[in-house]
Amino acid sequence: RKSDALDPPAKKSCTSEGHGSAVAAHYNELQECGLKERSQSRIFYLRNFNNWMKSALIGEFLDRVRQKNRRNITVLDLGCGKGGDLLKWKKGRIDKLVCTDIAEVSVQQCEQRYSDMKARNHREYTFEAEFVTADATKELLFEKLTNPDLTFDICSCQFVYHYSFETYEQADTMLRNACERLCPGGYFIGTTPDGFELVKRLEASDTNSFGNDVYSVTFQEKGNYPLFGCQYDFKLEGVVNVPEFLVYFPVLVEMAKKYKMKLIYKRTFKEFFEEKVKNDEQKMLLRKMQALEQYPSAPNSTLVSNNEEDYEHARNL
Ligand code: SAM
Repeated sequence: RKSDALDPPAKKSCTSEGHGSAVAAHYNELQECGLKERSQSRIFYLRNFNNWMKSALIGEFLDRVRQKNRRNITVLDLGCGKGGDLLKWKKGRIDKLVCTDIAEVSVQQCEQRYSDMKARNHREYTFEAEFVTADATKELLFEKLTNPDLTFDICSCQFVYHYSFETYEQADTMLRNACERLCPGGYFIGTTPDGFELVKRLEASDTNSFGNDVYSVTFQEKGNYPLFGCQYDFKLEGVVNVPEFLVYFPVLVEMAKKYKMKLIYKRTFKEFFEEKVKNDEQKMLLRKMQALEQYPSAPNSTLVSNNEEDYEHARNL
């Protein structure tokens, strides 16, 4: 975030139409399964790989914040889900975390997970945390915080931002929530499917759909890709089966300028993996997180994406 003054507050949007409630209901109903069950899932390695990507991304940007001599590191986890990244923040030794998500049950589970983690590690320092249920595409988060003036060093938005591209207003409100309260020099980081890759695979297919026996992506039609509301259905082995929206990355970059944001880093999963795996510590973490074998390919991505070949290198490590 560039260190200019903030824009004046925009008008609050609060309609309840759109896919938000379907998305919330879907994630609320998702069951947490145990490690044994997870390890037998066909997407075990894919999930682990995605987790490793997030760890490396979070680690990289916490380092950058620390290089700026920031103290009391405060993070916004936008679309925190059931708290899959809590341990990463603990390992990153942050001071305060705000976890927010549209799915109320997920937020409750995230809070429970945090309490369990704190109780388990009662002799160690664990960051402070606050939990907020809100539709980040329609509500202003700061109005729901204990301290509405809180500012963040990092906003982390992992596999979430694409839900906002339903309309311009929703994408803008989510960006506002992500960026408006960043400190000067703060970072908005995230992972989102690669719109270019999705369209490339769709255009190469004979139908409106592509995928394999683990995932499928189905568009309503080919050849028409509006900037907002370009919906596709994504299915991944019992994990996600909700409408998502194509994110045209250059538009996101333009829109973010309104919040004084400048793009400094964008990688596909493949590029990110190749960059990070040169570091022995990251390579060890990949092995430890069991992210190295036979994961099927799905077009998930970060500020970053992946494709069929991305994992070949990992398999061969
Ligand atoms: N970030 C978590 C992670 O990486 O484990 C969860 C990712 S999950 C794929 C997507 C999350 O986005 C879900 O928890 C969902 O409820 C949340 N989400 C979707 N639309 C949202 C919205 N409008 N506002 C806030 N959260 C939203």
